[in-house]
Amino acid sequence: MIDLQLKVDPFPIVEPLVIRLQTVQASRFPAASENDAMLVYHDENIADFDVGGFSLRVHTTDAQSLDGDVVLVTPGRNTLHRLIRASSRHNTLLITEQCDQKCIMCSQPPKKHHTDLFDYFLQAVLLAPAQTTIGLSGGEPLLHKARLFEFLEKAQSARPDIRFHILTNGQHFDKRDRTSLSALNMRSILWGVPIYAANAAAHDQIVVKAGAHKTLQKNLAILGTCGAVLELRTVLLNSNVLHLEDLANHITKHQSFASVWAIMQLENIGYARMNWDREFYDSSFSFVDVAKAIDLATGRGMETLLYNFPLCSVPSEYRRFCVASISDWKQKYLSTCDGCSLRSTCTGFFEWYSENKGFKGIVAQ
Ligand code: SF4
Repeated sequence: MIDLQLKVDPFPIVEPLVIRLQTVQASRFPAASENDAMLVYHDENIADFDVGGFSLRVHTTDAQSLDGDVVLVTPGRNTLHRLIRASSRHNTLLITEQCDQKCIMCSQPPKKHHTDLFDYFLQAVLLAPAQTTIGLSGGEPLLHKARLFEFLEKAQSARPDIRFHILTNGQHFDKRDRTSLSALNMRSILWGVPIYAANAAAHDQIVVKAGAHKTLQKNLAILGTCGAVLELRTVLLNSNVLHLEDLANHITKHQSFASVWAIMQLENIGYARMNWDREFYDSSFSFVDVAKAIDLATGRGMETLLYNFPLCSVPSEYRRFCVASISDWKQKYLSTCDGCSLRSTCTGFFEWYSENKGFKGIVAQ
């Protein structure tokens, strides 16, 4: 597992500080700024960076791996947060931990408190490597949509090369947002929106919110008319596996403008861990209902992908739909995977995956 937070020695600041760490003199970041911190010393346990004449000591065994990382240092805390890792394509900014839904498989259960970090996130985006895709997630980011739209406008204006992948439950758009959405470069934003069933009652039961499906349908139409690039996301559960084919029919009729439909395996953390025994669907045991849904959706021209599915949990003829989607910092493989010929393209498992409660059909290929 890759650390997203690193220990630092006390540092004399009164406001949070966003800086880009650099470990080589010949910078690959041509527009070096006052937010750049140069490595001045390191050994096998620490790395000292010069931040405007002050030394920031980071406890790390691999100083070079931090090159280009954009980090947040917070007053009074002895950790820094790696907001953007230059060497990774899996960078996500957590906009808020608040949410109005309580999805039974939520990996990040909601909290009441919110800290507005948009100004720091904007600084981080400005320092990101060229052509980076940055995820924005929660909680529900659209609970703070005025600030979110302002952030996106400023970020896109300063860094038109950056792409965003926004995960939202789709509950908080309304017609008045068309002006804000139209002001954005919508081609640079992928909106990831979950839908769990065509049947409203089944969807509402999974997200634990009455009326959520109805609101979602209305708001997906708003996104569609604003030219949104849409990724519909469906976590596979015992609660919805028998609804999948019906859902494929629904989205190919009503959200046919979507760019992709992602069917996702369960991540065993948060509420999903609590509900694992009831909701984990072992696709290595039976793939029939997933296959029917894929066949129907792709037959109607909808690009369909499988996220978080280990390759050997999927019949060979459907493996071409699998994406190595698990973020590098929380990805692992099992001892069974040693020597597997598919390992380099397989997504593997979440760090917190428990073998004795998981797939029964994991076999090296
Ligand atoms: S054995 Fe491991 S690496 Fe090979 S396909 Fe299965 S999960 Fe992937």
